[in-house]
Amino acid sequence: MKKYEKNKIKEVVCNRCGKRIAVEHGIAEEEVFHVEKRWGYFSKKDMKKDSFDLCEKCYDEVTAEFVIPVETKEEIEFFPC
Ligand SMILES: [Zn+2]
Repeated sequence: MKKYEKNKIKEVVCNRCGKRIAVEHGIAEEEVFHVEKRWGYFSKKDMKKDSFDLCEKCYDEVTAEFVIPVETKEEIEFFPC
């Protein structure tokens, strides 16, 4: 969940544990897992849009409950010439 002050993002709060992550100059001090989902016709939430943020610790704990683990790929950093 993003908290705003004077139309600027001030901090991101983890929806699961309430941890506050400060945002300086538009950049969060820690990475957060942000999700936005617009539900459609075939759901029971048609026309609704959900969003939430998780801190990295909660992301790890939530995904650890998955029956099938998250797919992870190593990414090579790309440096444009
Ligand atoms: Zn958390």
